[in-house]
Amino acid sequence: MNKTIIIHYSEIGLKKGNRGYFEHKLRDNILRALRDFNIDSLKIDFGRFVLPLPDDAPIEQINQRLSDVVGIAHFSTAFEASPDIDVLKEQVFEHVAPCIFSSFRVLTKRADKQYPLTSVEVNKIVGERIHTALNVPANMKQPDLTVFIEIYNKKVFFYLNRIQGLGGLPVTSSGKVVSLLSSGIDSPVASYRIMLRGCHVIFVHFHSFPFTDKASYHNAIELATRLCRFQYSAKIYLLPLAKLQEAIIAIAPPKLRLLLYRRAMFRLAEKVAKKEGAQALITGESLGQVASQTLENINAISEVVSLPVFRPLISFDKEVIVAEARKIGTYSVSIEPYDDCCSFLVPRNPETRAKIDDVRAAESIIENLTALENEILQSMECVKIQFPPE
Ligand code: ATP
Ligand code: MG
Repeated sequence: MNKTIIIHYSEIGLKKGNRGYFEHKLRDNILRALRDFNIDSLKIDFGRFVLPLPDDAPIEQINQRLSDVVGIAHFSTAFEASPDIDVLKEQVFEHVAPCIFSSFRVLTKRADKQYPLTSVEVNKIVGERIHTALNVPANMKQPDLTVFIEIYNKKVFFYLNRIQGLGGLPVTSSGKVVSLLSSGIDSPVASYRIMLRGCHVIFVHFHSFPFTDKASYHNAIELATRLCRFQYSAKIYLLPLAKLQEAIIAIAPPKLRLLLYRRAMFRLAEKVAKKEGAQALITGESLGQVASQTLENINAISEVVSLPVFRPLISFDKEVIVAEARKIGTYSVSIEPYDDCCSFLVPRNPETRAKIDDVRAAESIIENLTALENEILQSMECVKIQFPPE
């Protein structure tokens, strides 16, 4: 029997008027994810995607790719069966008989109300065939094996296994954002979280080379590369902050340095966002996690930009963030040693409750601030990434 992958989407199902827009975004993304497998026969059929597979299709690899497509609720490798119930129950039985299981259920979903039997009747007939032949009890709550049957548009499919997807909305359906990507643990997770809400992320990384080595620069590119598999193309802008840091260090009280670095980062990231047509900034901040992430300091940093700043991790505990970083494969890169540009000549006890007037006053006396920031924008680099790689 020919194999077909049936893909169900999650939240898109709740969209009414513009469901088609989201479906097409998701279709494009699935095709991009499978670009190197020569697959072009993906159809949208009655609220699901249907992908007939050639015999030699690398199913494991295709499953892996689909597991990373944002917007999919779950998917399965299915078999197309006969609409004739007597044939259908034999076709299902043939697939179930070799499986080892001690309880089972049949779950039918009938979107085609023209079909002569109800879902419950199909469950009963197919279930009885299995029970009578194998003497295995049915268990509707926690069975070892579930036979899923889908009836729609005059077609019948069945499958025995469902792979959970990421959920969320298809990447690019919500527009573009700029994410401030350090080489740490949090900002890659924040970037991933906003991708799940349908954003295409452009990355911005600040480094202090030549004051520090280039470890953070390389780690940030590697992180963007790992995250690219959720959105298929990515750009990372690499901005040299060293000269500006030098000017800040020369003039500002040590306790305020970190805040002044951050304000500069936000202004520069906003410039990149405007250039790219991105509509928000993203950071990996989590309230109270470190000195710069108190409410006072978040205010002192945010006031320099007019774009909204989203902080997907603001309420997350560190251990939750770490677990997610492991899951998406960024943790091992994030824990590699690097000199963080924010800790460059910053005292051990930076200001935790900055007074906004003090911060503004310290910043106002930095010579050539705007010229220095323009110089950084002139000398920033941009690396483009593709997934799957060419
Ligand atoms: P992370 O684990 O993401 O580095 P953190 O816990 O180290 O976060 P901070 O150092 O206070 O926290 O950084 C807060 C946020 O500022 C980061 O999550 C990131 O969004 C941004 N940020 C910090 N350093 C950089 C950098 N070098 N380049 C780009 N963004 C940065
Ligand atoms: Mg950090």
